[in-house]
Amino acid sequence: MHARKKTRQVHVGPVAIGGGAPVSIQSMTSTYTYEIDKTVAQIHALAQAGADIVRVAVPDPKDTEALHHILPQSPVPIVADVHFHFQRAMEAVEAGVHKIRLNPGNIQDRSQVDRVIRACRERGIPIRVGVNEGGIVERRDKDKRAAEKARLRSRMGHATHLLTDRDLGDPLVRLMIDKIEDYLRIFEENDFHDVVISAKSIDPRIVIDAYTAISERFDFPLHLGVTHAGPKETGCIRSVVALGTLLAGGIGDTVRISYASDPVLEVEDAREMLNCLGLRARIEPELIACPTCGRIEVDLMTLVRDVRQKLATIKVPIKVAVMGCVVNGPGEAEGADVAVFAGKGRGIIYVQGEQTRTVSEAQMLDALHEECLTLAAKVERGEATLSNSSVTIAPPDPLPRADGSLPLRVVGGS
Ligand code: SF4
Repeated sequence: MHARKKTRQVHVGPVAIGGGAPVSIQSMTSTYTYEIDKTVAQIHALAQAGADIVRVAVPDPKDTEALHHILPQSPVPIVADVHFHFQRAMEAVEAGVHKIRLNPGNIQDRSQVDRVIRACRERGIPIRVGVNEGGIVERRDKDKRAAEKARLRSRMGHATHLLTDRDLGDPLVRLMIDKIEDYLRIFEENDFHDVVISAKSIDPRIVIDAYTAISERFDFPLHLGVTHAGPKETGCIRSVVALGTLLAGGIGDTVRISYASDPVLEVEDAREMLNCLGLRARIEPELIACPTCGRIEVDLMTLVRDVRQKLATIKVPIKVAVMGCVVNGPGEAEGADVAVFAGKGRGIIYVQGEQTRTVSEAQMLDALHEECLTLAAKVERGEATLSNSSVTIAPPDPLPRADGSLPLRVVGGS
């Protein structure tokens, strides 16, 4: 892990971005913003999952009108996502939104951008200047679009007809930087500095290169994201590869993982990513589970799934291990506050290094859950402390088979 790059700080309501503030988690509602109750419910669900800031789309006046009702009910600051219509930005500012997301390139007229900037400055509202790979090549002006594409292709030094947009690679990064420089000039000319920058792509390599280059050039805080990452199953990998690489390199002040799925999943995965990188204090249990192998004698996959669901209500960062056997499990569960080692039809449960009970396979889930709840309550009352390193678990004796014989100890495994 590299030291985090120091950036300027902006404030989105009470949440600081940059300047050494903790990396914040953002997400975006998938509701129609004008459906006030649904939008407020989703904002609460996202906040409950750990979102620090939530963005809403405001394509229509009825959406910005809804902000007057949504903002007083929101537990977290709200960002208005504006495209094409500068009036929506003005209305959102008027409604008291905490931040505006703006792409100056898709606002018709420079004077309109200036008006939005002035309105935000008067209210102390920051603006995220976002460029996405898909939108950086001019879309409205055909001649300008042709010139920009030709410039990209000539930079590659290839025959034009052989090159698809997906092959543009580095020149895309350079065009993204060029665009950001153009946009930042507008903000500088307005003496406006509460800016956050984003430069998203669907390609993790472009995301890494673009943010790395931006980080070298500017000291504005960076909003990291992979755009249109896809469904959670693949989008998670795409996003964590890009954002995790940048964060480990000290780059990034706020993150949004985006999936074509329930946005709560975006927040849960962003939280886990930051936990894994040590950039956010864990507030929920951590689950360790063995991958299973030919030694498994219980339905561990179902047990792990069920344990995960049970742990969701616990708000204490206990470390829980679910191990398929006593061969390698104890070593890999070392440090776990609560652990179960499963064997033929039974499981041995340990709590902070002490063996507490042996239960049947049918009782394992409830017994483990009970031990987790008891320990979490003790921690909350100050009667127990969590220690990630000092909990050692002595290998239990191999569990006897149904006929009473002991299985052979096996060296190796997971
Ligand atoms: S050897 Fe490792 S992977 Fe195999 S069942 Fe035991 S703990 Fe799980």
